Amino acid sequence: MNDVIIIGGSFAGLAAALQLGRARRKVIVLDTSQPRNRFAGHSHGLLGHDHKPPLAILAAARQQLAHYPTVRLVNARAEKISGVIDDFSVVTDDHDSLRARRVILSYGVVDQMPDVPGFAESWGTSIVPCPYCDGFEAAGQHWGLVWSGPQSHNQVRLFLDWTDRLTVFADGHDIAPDIQADLAHRNIPVVDGRIVEIAHHQGHIATVNLDTGPTVAVDILFAHPRNKPSANLHESLGLATMGTPTGVVLKVDERRQTSTPGIYAAGDLTTPILPSVTQASSQGAMAGIFAQQSMLA
Ligand SMILES: Cc1cc2nc3c(=O)[nH]c(=O)nc-3n(C[C@H](O)[C@H](O)[C@H](O)COP(=O)(O)OP(=O)(O)OC[C@H]3O[C@@H](n4cnc5c(N)ncnc54)[C@H](O)[C@@H]3O)c2cc1C
Repeated sequence: MNDVIIIGGSFAGLAAALQLGRARRKVIVLDTSQPRNRFAGHSHGLLGHDHKPPLAILAAARQQLAHYPTVRLVNARAEKISGVIDDFSVVTDDHDSLRARRVILSYGVVDQMPDVPGFAESWGTSIVPCPYCDGFEAAGQHWGLVWSGPQSHNQVRLFLDWTDRLTVFADGHDIAPDIQADLAHRNIPVVDGRIVEIAHHQGHIATVNLDTGPTVAVDILFAHPRNKPSANLHESLGLATMGTPTGVVLKVDERRQTSTPGIYAAGDLTTPILPSVTQASSQGAMAGIFAQQSMLA
């Protein structure tokens, strides 16, 4: 019997494995190698690893974990979970059936690309979600923001710390009159119409093209497409979730336990705002520690 099966071996899952391995617990990490930021050339904001390629950070973490004899990293997809605390069973796409006393869910979320030519091709290069991740490198340039709802108003105020050249793309949203007035007061142009194409050169945006005719040149576009959990294991387990402006996340308590005893969760799968590598790593480490402490004799 394993102590813990971790489902998703990226920033959150590997951080959990590190704590558990150091506590000499027997751990299996299942992973399908599709971290959310794999489209980005560089990862920013993680102390000690700023501006490194995300896949290089993960490769270094896996190399370090190889020194811990009780940690096993397995390249497989978890397809089914059953059981109760102290005796969970996880079936993989290799038809392996693994058992463990605890489970940590860290399988992240998938961003759903809109059906706009050029959008997916530019995602991670010049269309990005977060100014803390990519704002510094584009400071002072012409930014675009794709409106996704009232929460976008806060983004406008936030972005002004990086640039005063901002254009809002309404993209079919009705922006409330008081918000329109505030944008006008700040001299921020709002472009109506739906985005129908991103014209780009190898992911670097040239123009944002609208169904109303105009094309608008920007240097970088911030967008928040809807996302969904990368697997539906939490649904089959009936775990409690909560809605966010762009999707759903799992509910966890202060010890990172989900609504089912013995199942813990960490990373983007549980993070309603400002998901990041730092948050995922920190939450993963805590999930590992709390899972370990829940098994003390
Ligand atoms: C374009 C872009 C750029 C970003 N840039 C930055 C940045 O510069 N700095 C920053 O801090 N954050 C950045 N982020 C956010 C960052 O990517 C996430 O916060 C981080 O990856 C979350 O880590 P995680 O471990 O929760 O999930 P993920 O990194 O998404 O990893 C989930 C893992 O689970 C695996 N998996 C999924 N389903 C299963 C299954 N059924 N069985 C087994 N394995 C499974 C996946 O293959 C994947 O390896 C960026 C995000 C995007 C989209």
